Amino acid sequence: MSPTTTTPTRAILASEPEPQAHIPGSNWTIENIIVPTTLKDGELLVEMVASGICHTDLLITSIPRHPSYPLHYPRVAGHEGAGYIKAIGPNSIKKDLAVGDPVLLSYYSCMDCVTCKLGRPNHCPNFGYNVIGQSDAFKSADGSDDIAGSFFGQSSFANLSVVKESSVVSAKNLIETPSELKLFAPLGCGLQTGAGSVLKIAKAGKGNSVMVSGLGGVGLAAIMAAKIAGCHEIIGVDINASRVGRCEEFGATKALNTKDSTNLAASLKEVANDGRGPDIFIDTTGVSAVQRAAYAALANGGTLVLVGASPDPVQKLEIDIRDIMTRCVKVVGCIMGDSNPGVFIPELVKYYREGRFPIDRMTTFYKAEDFKTALHDMHSGETIKAVLKW
Ligand SMILES: [Zn+2]
Ligand SMILES: [Zn+2]
Repeated sequence: MSPTTTTPTRAILASEPEPQAHIPGSNWTIENIIVPTTLKDGELLVEMVASGICHTDLLITSIPRHPSYPLHYPRVAGHEGAGYIKAIGPNSIKKDLAVGDPVLLSYYSCMDCVTCKLGRPNHCPNFGYNVIGQSDAFKSADGSDDIAGSFFGQSSFANLSVVKESSVVSAKNLIETPSELKLFAPLGCGLQTGAGSVLKIAKAGKGNSVMVSGLGGVGLAAIMAAKIAGCHEIIGVDINASRVGRCEEFGATKALNTKDSTNLAASLKEVANDGRGPDIFIDTTGVSAVQRAAYAALANGGTLVLVGASPDPVQKLEIDIRDIMTRCVKVVGCIMGDSNPGVFIPELVKYYREGRFPIDRMTTFYKAEDFKTALHDMHSGETIKAVLKW
């Protein structure tokens, strides 16, 4: 085997968080590290032009090492990326990829199991690799220490990264200008998750009242998708006034600020379907109190889609079996919007071109080194979707 060659790169590194009182993102720094560029089977070397920041990056890098959850530190997160292929490793399966091609990055799947071959890579039993990744994907600048990466098979918070080919969608026929490649960077996670929760999981249609809690990038993608589906009532819910104030421009027919609500379930129910509650509830907050209220607020026959993840590893939603049975309601989990990125991302680009998925109106670009400003603006609600440029 030939010796491993390496190349320097800039990357955002997350060090191990303090177990208590950790502020998400406070353990991120931008540093010079090195990336091994001797590629293995099914790997590509990708030069990033942009990386979207998703709450999962913050959530995962807030979890300290734990015996039952083998996260490695320091690590490079980032799972919404866009860039150009610099090299292709041996035995590549995707024959539509060539050096120099623009690509959008999404998530890893093994491409070999029954569910992957059936076109349902998000149900791949090897999906856990996306979170755990690889302990030695990068090295420290002097080459002495391992740095973890391959987050979602990509670790897009690096200017140069080794990416699994299953995580890649060719953008050759999707983009019209190089700047569009940067704009489309978040399609592979947040935006396809939000849109897929409505279109693929809840299969929303004309007669439905849809409620969406949490009006960040994922929530607004769900709202735009509900409008695409022709839903008659689309209600955006949040506790941040600036986010509540903007959801109608993305297709919401009503906006609800629940900051001062004393009975959340009742507040949610009374505004939907003339008081019968929403037919579809998309929760992107991951907050237990919101999820419980959403379940209680559902109209008979309604569906609660759980999209937001909680940092609490023992979060529970208790369900009264007689209640779920007699109301005929459903509670469904959602990873990546139940989407096959190779199929769904081109569909979302088509909606964008038709003016029905105006992601340009929710995106703010920052230089990669200004990631702290991006995190601050995301937290304050000033920025909906932050995209870092390399
Ligand atoms: Zn698989
Ligand atoms: Zn994400």
